Amino acid sequence: MQFKKILGQENIKQQLIKTVEENRVSHAQLFLSPEGCGAFPLAVAYAQYINCLQKTNDDSCGECSNCRKYEKYIHPDLHFSFPFYAKHKEDTAELYIEEWRNMLLENPYFDLNTWRSQINPEKSKQANINISECHSIIKKLSYKAFEAETKVLIMWLPEYLDSQGNALLKIIEEPPANTLFILVANNQEKVLSTLLSRTQIVKIKALPNEVISNYLMAEKSLEEAEAHQYSFLADGNLVEAERLVLHMEDKSADLFTNWLRLGYGNKVTDMIAFTDEMSSWGREGQKNFLRYGINFLRECSLLLNGVEEMVKLPPNILETAKKLTTHVLTQNMINALVIELESAHYHVERNANPKILFLDVSLQLVKIIKFKTFPKGTQYILD
Ligand SMILES: [Zn+2]
Repeated sequence: MQFKKILGQENIKQQLIKTVEENRVSHAQLFLSPEGCGAFPLAVAYAQYINCLQKTNDDSCGECSNCRKYEKYIHPDLHFSFPFYAKHKEDTAELYIEEWRNMLLENPYFDLNTWRSQINPEKSKQANINISECHSIIKKLSYKAFEAETKVLIMWLPEYLDSQGNALLKIIEEPPANTLFILVANNQEKVLSTLLSRTQIVKIKALPNEVISNYLMAEKSLEEAEAHQYSFLADGNLVEAERLVLHMEDKSADLFTNWLRLGYGNKVTDMIAFTDEMSSWGREGQKNFLRYGINFLRECSLLLNGVEEMVKLPPNILETAKKLTTHVLTQNMINALVIELESAHYHVERNANPKILFLDVSLQLVKIIKFKTFPKGTQYILD
């Protein structure tokens, strides 16, 4: 993880780099931050920077032997500890290291909900960092570093250490040579006070709304007003912002595929219920729905053209798209529908009455996919 891959947080990056330049890296640090602002990736980037063999004055190189292993989270001198569900008393976090790495590789911004969904716990069980894990940490850190200059242990959510976590006090106070502890916490009150008093606290702030909305526009193709809306709701939490976008996409996906089915079944009464639902989504939601529809149809077009490897749809939606392109949708229909949706998008932006607009688009949909009649002026490929 290089600093440049981390969203915002420029001041804290500079502050961390300075501790390395001035050779005053404290051996036990507690990164304290609200959720979803990147404290965990910052901890990894900091550790990588410390161990990079060709660091510059603003980042690690990303290419030396240490960086390469850090980037995959497999460096032998980089250890992770995190809350987990012990099946047996002697289980340690090592039991879940593969799920952990996979999650980090997919997205280094996550929260406890993300982590829980990776390890599929039994509902009744409480995640924690148990005493066996503490003993395993002490053992791991007692070895000499294998490849890097500094051994690093990053503990995510030390709030989940129970009182047995005090077993770690001695090693944190008098660590073996060249050892760095970084604890990444969200809730200072829930961290053992004995740990707090032995660590240097590094405070990391929530991300400004503007940073999140710029990210959503650049990476998630959201329009400005919509990006502002989500970043406002997420309140500085990038994990939450991404979750909101995903939720909106899921909702749009369900409604859009259902709408296609209604059109194919010529279910005009249900179409009216659909227009009522659409009216309640508000202008940004309606535009989002239409844009989702346009993208979905373009993906369907790729399927029709036999380039499934280029299709970027999640597995469940891909199944639906395959069924639709096998049994219902032709290229001509897709072309005609995209024109209708683009025109609807244009009219939503200009404050058209949503009930009239979506009813009209729905009737066009029935004409196109049920009766195969296409509006004039559309360029067609012969089916
Ligand atoms: Zn490097």
